Amino acid sequence: MPMRPPTHRPHGMATKKDRQYRSPEQREKDAWYGKARWKRLAKMVRNRDMHLCQECGRPGNNVDHRIERDERPDLAFDMGNLQTLCVRCHNAKRAKVGA
Ligand SMILES: [Zn+2]
Repeated sequence: MPMRPPTHRPHGMATKKDRQYRSPEQREKDAWYGKARWKRLAKMVRNRDMHLCQECGRPGNNVDHRIERDERPDLAFDMGNLQTLCVRCHNAKRAKVGA
């Protein structure tokens, strides 16, 4: 039985990934929020809302989906479904939703 030449497999490419493990959900979230499209849209929403929290009227910078994107992915990039929230109101909403 002839020996097949060893197939070369490059390895050691995943060292960084191995070291800082993040959950698939977190990675998906990061990738999603990192998209240039989202950044541009979020900026537009903040400008529209004059950087004010739509819940309490204090200055805010978090852009929130009124209807969660899990529920309505089709509205993820719909400005009508987006609002500016301050960190406090955003966290409060997150806690309520359980996300
Ligand atoms: Zn607020």
